[in-house]
Amino acid sequence: MTILIIAPDKDPEPWISALKSLDPELDIQVYPNEARKADVTFALCWNHPEGVLRDYPNLRCICSMGAGVDHVLSDPQLPEGVPVIRLVDPQLAQSMFEYVCAAVMVYFRDFDAYRAQQEQALWQPRAPRPIGETTVGMMGLGQLGEYSAIRLSRLGFNVIGWSRTPKTIEGITAYAGAEQLEAFLSQTDVLVCLLPLTNETRDILNLDNLRKLPAGACLVNVARGEHVVDEDLLAALDEGTLWGARLDVFRQEPLPECHPFWRHEKIRLTPHCSSLTDPVSVAPQIVENDRRLKDGRPLLNRVMPSRGY
Ligand code: NAP
Repeated sequence: MTILIIAPDKDPEPWISALKSLDPELDIQVYPNEARKADVTFALCWNHPEGVLRDYPNLRCICSMGAGVDHVLSDPQLPEGVPVIRLVDPQLAQSMFEYVCAAVMVYFRDFDAYRAQQEQALWQPRAPRPIGETTVGMMGLGQLGEYSAIRLSRLGFNVIGWSRTPKTIEGITAYAGAEQLEAFLSQTDVLVCLLPLTNETRDILNLDNLRKLPAGACLVNVARGEHVVDEDLLAALDEGTLWGARLDVFRQEPLPECHPFWRHEKIRLTPHCSSLTDPVSVAPQIVENDRRLKDGRPLLNRVMPSRGY
């Protein structure tokens, strides 16, 4: 029973060493150099080549090497009936919170404005607003969004959230479904996107929705680039609907050198690093799921391909 790593853009060594340190007996191989396709039962995937998963007749589990599964489910030739699982990791949630918190704080304490003032040697203090008067709107209240929402609320921000199904989370006003999206957006000063990429959420950050935010709001996108309609974001920034945007993810990655986001004065960007999966931190759940597969027990962190996440 072989665990096959299919991740052409990733260095497999840290993953192999983290998994082997937990179970030296594991047979771990790396695509496309696997010895026998028929031995592969567990595929560990990140941006696998389309259709390739059909080549393993005894494949019984497809595991994303991150929290998102859009890169797995977008394969139109995914083998039918093979469970898809993902990684759920407290360290990933903590690291995402740190990034989101930094982005919210930069907006809340006017750091970009002070930077502009510094360039002109302008000494011009601004009275800070009370923290509870800034509303952070969390799109997606899953493993990552809920954690960040709770931590930001504990810092004193007014936090509201939006999800597909209704939620009750202490300290957070929760909205759900397409019918409550406008009510959610209309109160949000800092919109944080932590949605999965699905057919329902693709292009959700379009001009129509961005215009529902109060004037001068800020966007933080740490989910997927395809949530944003690029031209619409530029229009919202240029017309002043949005004060600024902090982006970690893009439709095309790496972001092409000629893309207007690089040089836009109201955009701050980072190279998809808001929260990186640490192989050492997630190895125990991969080994546990491999054991469960071997014992015929239910797998942890299964996704529902029908809903897209
Ligand atoms: P998750 O646990 O699956 O949570 C997804 C949340 O989004 C849930 O609250 C879900 O609602 C909500 N949602 C899904 N479809 C929706 C819709 N149509 N309308 C409204 N809400 C909807 O996901 P997660 O682990 O928090 O991760 C979120 C995403 O973050 C991942 O999919 C990935 O793309 C991204 N990510 C990015 C990085 C990075 O480095 N930038 C790192 C890790 C993850 P329900 O609660 O009602 O189901």
